Amino acid sequence: MGTPDKVPVGAHVNHANPGRIVGAGPAGLLLGQLLHRNGIDNVTLERQTAEYVLRRVRAGVIEQITRDLLDEAGVGGRMHSDGLVHDGVQICVDGVRHRLSFKALTGKTVTVYGQTEITRDLMDGRAAAGAKTVYAASEVSLHDVFTDQPRVTYRAGGAALEIACDFVAGCDGFHGISRKSVPAGAIATHERVYPLGWLGILSETPPVSEELIYVRHPLGFALCSMRTPTLSRYYLQCSLAEDIDAWPDERFWEELKPRLDDEARERLVTGPSIEKSIAPLRSFVAEPMRFGRLFLAGDAAHIVPPTGAKGLNLAASDVRYLSEALIEHYADKSDAGLDRYSERALARVWKAERFSWWMTTLLHRISDNSFDHKIQLAELDYLFRSKAAATAFAENYVGLAY
Ligand SMILES: Cc1cc2nc3c(=O)[nH]c(=O)nc-3n(C[C@H](O)[C@H](O)[C@H](O)COP(=O)(O)OP(=O)(O)OC[C@H]3O[C@@H](n4cnc5c(N)ncnc54)[C@H](O)[C@@H]3O)c2cc1C
Repeated sequence: MGTPDKVPVGAHVNHANPGRIVGAGPAGLLLGQLLHRNGIDNVTLERQTAEYVLRRVRAGVIEQITRDLLDEAGVGGRMHSDGLVHDGVQICVDGVRHRLSFKALTGKTVTVYGQTEITRDLMDGRAAAGAKTVYAASEVSLHDVFTDQPRVTYRAGGAALEIACDFVAGCDGFHGISRKSVPAGAIATHERVYPLGWLGILSETPPVSEELIYVRHPLGFALCSMRTPTLSRYYLQCSLAEDIDAWPDERFWEELKPRLDDEARERLVTGPSIEKSIAPLRSFVAEPMRFGRLFLAGDAAHIVPPTGAKGLNLAASDVRYLSEALIEHYADKSDAGLDRYSERALARVWKAERFSWWMTTLLHRISDNSFDHKIQLAELDYLFRSKAAATAFAENYVGLAY
């Protein structure tokens, strides 16, 4: 193994060799920034380049918990100035639109602010604080996580490196190595793979509505979303076998239009896409989320279908619990928070899993069984007529208390 890496020592450092964070997505960057601001030094290892990470277009709807954490991390400025606060959401059922007001039902709101912008803000914050992120780190491997001194080995800049640390945060997403490093007997997984995906495009056109429109239609689900007043994000339900090259922009718009209501169809401004991708829909949970000195957070431990806009927000709530626990560990010499991390995080994860599964089955054409379609319509009718059902929906969408 090569020479030990030098841990950068900043002004706030109060411990010689604390954390390694694997993955510089939102979970890893946010955790790193919160720890750094509390005097806990950490190094983040990311497989991709910074430019690649910034090109990934994903989440767009953030809850209060994520807003609060970005503020705590000292990077909330642009989110407040550029984010779009949404008081409600619209659901279009077979050409008829309904509105559910989060503000009226819960007093809360969500903010539309793209994951790419959050990532950029966190990267800038991390660079300004002098915290170290190693991009293009390959062959990252975890060792001895069940001992008091785990080690991480990796390659960067042509060198083989090994670092010892107090803890490892596995924030490397669903396909990362952290979860896969855990012995099979120590981990349980629960999974549902849906027979469909989302075909998404980003286009420099004004959004069709000021609020998101979720569309349930016999032709299949659609979502009209946005990032800014001039940047729209649209999704269509597609099969998992879909070839993205078979979807020129014209075909996308022609498939979207018949699913919309008359007003939306008239207001729709089409244009060339600047990004196009297909995302499979999956529900997945790994339990527990702690293995000795390894703590999983975000998509590394759980996946939700994007219908409920929960993935990034769950990553943020994991980071809230984990950062609080690590700060307590170093400041108060107490492991109470670390010992409870997995249980606290999973309690919230399962609520979000339930909501995301429910929204997915409510709005997508998952089967050709007419019974399933009728049940969907009856459930939606109940949602629009019952204040209790609408309130439960709104409470879940804006984010359950943590
Ligand atoms: C189409 C779509 C729409 C979505 N919409 C929403 C939404 O509206 N709201 C919401 O809350 N969520 C949404 N999500 C989910 C959200 O994007 C994810 O939950 C979020 O990115 C999770 O962050 P993360 O940091 O845990 O994982 P990731 O973003 O996956 O980051 C993991 C990082 O680890 C790196 N990595 C992987 N393997 C290794 C390795 N071996 N070594 C080092 N680094 C590694 C990866 O390159 C990556 O940078 C959406 C997702 C999709 C696909």
